[in-house]
Amino acid sequence: MQDSGSSRLSTLPKELREVLEFTRMHNRWRRFETINLIASENVMSPLADSAYMSDMMHRYAEGKPFKRYYQGTRYVDEVEVRVMRLMGELLNAGYVDPRPISGTTANASVFRVLGACGSKAVIAPVQAGAHVSHTKFGTLGALCIEHIEMPYDPERMNVDVDKAVKLIEEVKPSFVVLGASVYLFPHPVKEVAEAAHSVGAKLVYDAAHVLGLIAGKRWRNPLDHGADVMTASTHKTFPGPQGGIIATRDEEIYKRVSRAVFPYFVSNHHLHRLPALAVTAVEMKYFGEAYADQVVRNARALAEALAAEGFKVLGEHLGYTKSHQVVLDVRPQGGGAKAAKLLEDANIIVNKNLLPYDPPDAIKDPSGLRLGVQEMTRFGMKEDNMKDIARFMRRVLIDREDPRKVAEEVKEYRKEYTRVHYCFDVDTIEDGKLYLLY
Ligand SMILES: *Cc1c(COP(=O)(O)O)cnc(C)c1O
Repeated sequence: MQDSGSSRLSTLPKELREVLEFTRMHNRWRRFETINLIASENVMSPLADSAYMSDMMHRYAEGKPFKRYYQGTRYVDEVEVRVMRLMGELLNAGYVDPRPISGTTANASVFRVLGACGSKAVIAPVQAGAHVSHTKFGTLGALCIEHIEMPYDPERMNVDVDKAVKLIEEVKPSFVVLGASVYLFPHPVKEVAEAAHSVGAKLVYDAAHVLGLIAGKRWRNPLDHGADVMTASTHKTFPGPQGGIIATRDEEIYKRVSRAVFPYFVSNHHLHRLPALAVTAVEMKYFGEAYADQVVRNARALAEALAAEGFKVLGEHLGYTKSHQVVLDVRPQGGGAKAAKLLEDANIIVNKNLLPYDPPDAIKDPSGLRLGVQEMTRFGMKEDNMKDIARFMRRVLIDREDPRKVAEEVKEYRKEYTRVHYCFDVDTIEDGKLYLLY
């Protein structure tokens, strides 16, 4: 490990320098030297970054704006009501709770309210892209709600509507969940909502992955099609701080869910997220459509380019993808675990993933890779860049070139793409400092 050189740093204790140095190396590698294709990640704008670094990160504000259990929150309250209003406008939802500190916490709060212990929920199986919080191993299990598997059609890579409707009518669950972690094509919200409502069940739409596409109007807003409540992460296609959110048009659901967020699942809601989330919401209002449009174009372009390079890309007969994701079957290249590691050695960061036809226990070495283009889109990449990325991937996984050689080229390539787009051009340190404490 090399020292970063400053003489003042070298006077610090070694155990401190180590931590700082690892952090610096992480920042340099992941921010400037790699092509990041993790589908659940993104970066904030420079302005949102600087708004994040505020004194609010040290404070408590249990309760709701202007009805807190602590003093000293008058400006936090003002920011939080603006977050609620801005996110409500973007999602066309009258009621927003931004306090869940993650998408999982948002799901926990909603599941807890809609399903009592011992009740049933109909949700897609894990191989079909369900999130761990949808399963007996995660939040659903912790709340002792039974997971009834939603019928899934691997051929169409989507919920099997006819079978799903029948199952919901038969099982009469407390709630149904749509939305997923592997998510190429929009789920049939309208049909499933009608079936759920016909047996008195609620429909939860988990928009963790596609929140930014919904805000940018390139993905159907589930609330327009009958979903009762939407949960999401605020840091995947929505390029905000890591956190969660709940949105609904149903006042009754909002009131009950809010009483579950605090005090069941959140005490302090990590207040420094709020200004950064508000900044991102305003950016999405002005630039979100252009961003989301380029994201879906890039995903399609990456899928087509990878297929042309000889990869097995899922969903060819369906046009590959309508989201930010592309899914590959890399069994011919040695499987998901091996492929993901080789790409990492080449400075291309992806994650291995179960494919719809994998057994659930193949989780350590699944057949697939899941790719997302949203972050590289934020850094200004377009369709032609997707062809270059596909070529890098072919050289590593099909031509079996030395990944370290490709890594050097990726590092060089990335140098042109380090500025965040689709945000206000307030990106000098001086401008940023207006909002910074330090
Ligand atoms: C990522 C994800 C979540 C929540 O993730 P957090 O890391 O807790 O924000 C929930 N549901 C789905 C479908 C997801 O992909």
